[in-house]
Amino acid sequence: MDNNILIYNTLSRKKEEFVPINSPFVGMYVCGPTVYGDAHLGHARPAITFDLVFRYLTHLGYRVRYVRNITDVGHLENDADEGEDKIGKKARLEELEPMEIVQYYTDRYHDNMDQLNVRKPSIEPRASGHIIEQIELIKKILAVGLAYESAGSIYFDVARYNESHHYGILSGRVLEDMLSNTRVLEGQDEKRNSFDFALWKKAQPEHIMRWPSPWGEGFPGWHMECSAMSCKYLGDQFDIHGGGMDLMFPHHEAEIAQSMAANGKAPVHYWMHNNMITINGTKMGKSLGNFITLDELFTGDHAALEQAYSPMTIRFFILQAHYRSTVDFSNEALQASEKGFHRLLTATETLKKLKPSEVSSVDVSAVKKACYDALNDDFNSPLVIAALFEGARIINVVNDGKETITAEDLILLQNTFDTFVFDVLGLKDEVTSGSQGDTVKGLMGLILNIRQNARVTKDWSTSDLIRDELKRLSIQIKDTKDGSVWTVED
Ligand code: ZN
Repeated sequence: MDNNILIYNTLSRKKEEFVPINSPFVGMYVCGPTVYGDAHLGHARPAITFDLVFRYLTHLGYRVRYVRNITDVGHLENDADEGEDKIGKKARLEELEPMEIVQYYTDRYHDNMDQLNVRKPSIEPRASGHIIEQIELIKKILAVGLAYESAGSIYFDVARYNESHHYGILSGRVLEDMLSNTRVLEGQDEKRNSFDFALWKKAQPEHIMRWPSPWGEGFPGWHMECSAMSCKYLGDQFDIHGGGMDLMFPHHEAEIAQSMAANGKAPVHYWMHNNMITINGTKMGKSLGNFITLDELFTGDHAALEQAYSPMTIRFFILQAHYRSTVDFSNEALQASEKGFHRLLTATETLKKLKPSEVSSVDVSAVKKACYDALNDDFNSPLVIAALFEGARIINVVNDGKETITAEDLILLQNTFDTFVFDVLGLKDEVTSGSQGDTVKGLMGLILNIRQNARVTKDWSTSDLIRDELKRLSIQIKDTKDGSVWTVED
């Protein structure tokens, strides 16, 4: 951990040296999905961004407690304090229990994350499992006079809070401007000010998900869960809080205000926000007809898609942009990523076959250094990929006999590729890794055995049929003195 990492802190709007509160322990909280529909590109980006942070800090030796929540209650339509609960609405339309919706989409989300090779968080708490903690936090805020009860609901008193704190410290907003810009919404008259937000909402008779509280039956406001659960598992103050830029206001701003009010301390040292994904230059949205789920991407089953894109192509595509830059999705961009990723994987295969020489005419330590330098500079994944492509270039020129490499440098290059391609960037060879890969390997072993038996009995038609049919599937068989080996061609 002698590495000095710089993290761009949204709070200070500059890069800061990463100093954990209690090194080597690191507390990291990331806002997870609201589970009422299939995961899409917009879910893949924060998951992959903070998976990279999780993987790299772990690689450096930090003991990261990574908490990523599941929002299963309290997130109302339009992200405001009005409208139906997103999960409750889906449950009503599908005639299911809300928790059936939650289970179904949580399972599907987990499947998608596994496909993207996103490591599981250390703790994945659900909002509905922490109602008591949320009620306790609300009581604390009420006790210091920064919340008020109105018609059975509890609202945060933003104007009062702003007298002694800065509401808008994260997003850079100023309350006076917000006041003049906010529309007065119908039905919000129970709030003192339109920018006050709900900590607890009284449940209307038709509202399904409801719990008893000191203020009557109701449910927590959307922002409460993250304050309550981060505090429970990471303490009053922790190191990193992440999420998409779209959550910065009001969600994260409200989290800061709630925690400051309840605990008297700023909850988070480093606020990290990933930028958004656009599709052909426009925002992705259900109403815009360009809403693509991860399953649709993986199968190619969507009108906007020219082909299927594998989970690793999507992962590579997202990592090719720095997390604070926008990413524009297009078929051309994804096809370029597919080619680039394939080139990198081919180099890792070639690397295994390189023969060492007495002297090195290539500088492989520069490749390793460039990878660390890039990650230490605010997790700059595109620069890591650029460094690995330089490594791939070295591998290819050595393989062509134009340059030479020593055994020692060969090990260094192998370790660099293993560390950064697989451990830190979390990429994998989808043909030969995982349970599907094991099945492929097993099947190939079986087929090659059948072919070997055919050759022993001089059944040339069977042996040639197997070779030709595999060739049609781009699988090349080479017969060596140690038996047959197979490779997948480009
Ligand atoms: Zn959150």
